[in-house]
Amino acid sequence: MKKIAIFPGSFDPFTRGHEDIVLRGLKIFDEIIIGIGYNSSKHDRYFEIEWMVNKIEKIFEKNDRIKTLVYNELTAEVAKKIDAKYLLRGLRNTTDFEYENSISQVNRYLNQELETVFLITSPEYAAVNSSIIREVHKYDGDVSDFLPYEL
Ligand code: ADP
Repeated sequence: MKKIAIFPGSFDPFTRGHEDIVLRGLKIFDEIIIGIGYNSSKHDRYFEIEWMVNKIEKIFEKNDRIKTLVYNELTAEVAKKIDAKYLLRGLRNTTDFEYENSISQVNRYLNQELETVFLITSPEYAAVNSSIIREVHKYDGDVSDFLPYEL
C-alpha cells in the first residue's frame, strides 16, 4: 500500500524550509500532498492563493510523487478523503514544539488512523519563517534567498 502523507500549512509564502521538509519527506513516504489550508471568504493571505499554488507546482513539476491540494476543512478529515495516514510537519524550535504537540494530539483524536511525523528543520533553514518574510517583503526588503522561486 502506498504511504501517503499530507503536509499541511498556510504556506504564505512557501519557503526553502518547507521545500526541505517535502524533499526529505520523500525518503519516508511514497507520495506527499502539500495541503494549503485556505478559506476563500476570509481574505487573510498576503500572497495570493492561486499564485502560491502555481509556484509550488512549478518547483515540483518534475516529481510526480508531490502534489498540491487547496482545502477548507479539518486537516484530519481531508487526510481521510485522500487516504493519507501520515501528517508531515516541520519543527524548528520549542515554540513550534509546544504548538505542534497540541495539534497533533487533536488531529489524532479526530482521526485515529493519522500519525503525525515531525522532521527537525535543517540548520540552514531554522530561522526561515513565513511571517517574517511577509514583514520584510511588505517593506520592500529582499527575501529571495528564503524562497525556492522568483517573486
Ligand atoms: P501553519 O500556518 O500551519 O503554521 P506554515 O505554512 O507556517 O503553516 O508551516 C507549515 C509547516 O512547516 C509547519 O509544520 C511548520 O512548523 C513547518 N515549517 C515552517 N517553516 C519551516 C522551516 N523553516 N523549516 C522547517 N519547517 C518549517
